[in-house]
Amino acid sequence: MNLILLGPPGAGKGTQAKRLEDRYQIVQLSTGDMLRAEVKSGSELGQQAKAIMESGGLVSDELIINMISARIDQPDCQKGFILDGFPRTVKQAEALDAMLQDKGMEMNHVIELKVDDEALVGRVTGRYTCAKCGSGYHDEFQKPAKEGVCDKCEGTEFTRRADDNEETVRSRLGAYHESTAPILPYYGSKGVLKSVDGMAPIDEVTQQLYSILG
Ligand code: AMP
Repeated sequence: MNLILLGPPGAGKGTQAKRLEDRYQIVQLSTGDMLRAEVKSGSELGQQAKAIMESGGLVSDELIINMISARIDQPDCQKGFILDGFPRTVKQAEALDAMLQDKGMEMNHVIELKVDDEALVGRVTGRYTCAKCGSGYHDEFQKPAKEGVCDKCEGTEFTRRADDNEETVRSRLGAYHESTAPILPYYGSKGVLKSVDGMAPIDEVTQQLYSILG
């Protein structure tokens, strides 16, 4: 099963993708995570992407399309994948269609997580991740059961993304409305788009996704 999770930064795509990975035994492909790994490794691609990511802009379509195409060819994607953060422009969506056709694959579900803009800044600026296993937390909305200890792996080190500050989040929201929201009518006109209420509690959103995905 292959699916796309769409929605602005802070909509919950990453959180939900992790749950879907476990339930359906498919892999989360987050272009943001891949780019952060490139930045960390100091690769040429990472060096090209770093300043753009810090400003909240979008990395070039070509670079992203090549990166995701190579990733989908990896054996762990054979059982299925969840695209999180891609496609982010209509050009990327068109390239994805062509890429899947070339590879003899298809997209089974495109699901939008609908959220109010005002809620997003608070959601994004409060979030952090376990440095060891990548589980996501939030200062207010999703604290670990024991303060400072990861629920999943008992790790005690956490990281915050450099671009999760208020100024950059506002730029990222601007980029979403300008470049990414036009993807919704693109998939809507193909009749494959479904929406879930991303303002509902995390577990409820997961249940809504399960009921769509079966
Ligand atoms: P994310 O983790 O999805 O919020 O992505 C973090 C940042 O990586 C974005 O603000 C963009 O600068 C860049 N990025 C991630 N995915 C894409 C994409 N599909 N197209 C262009 N830029 C991207």
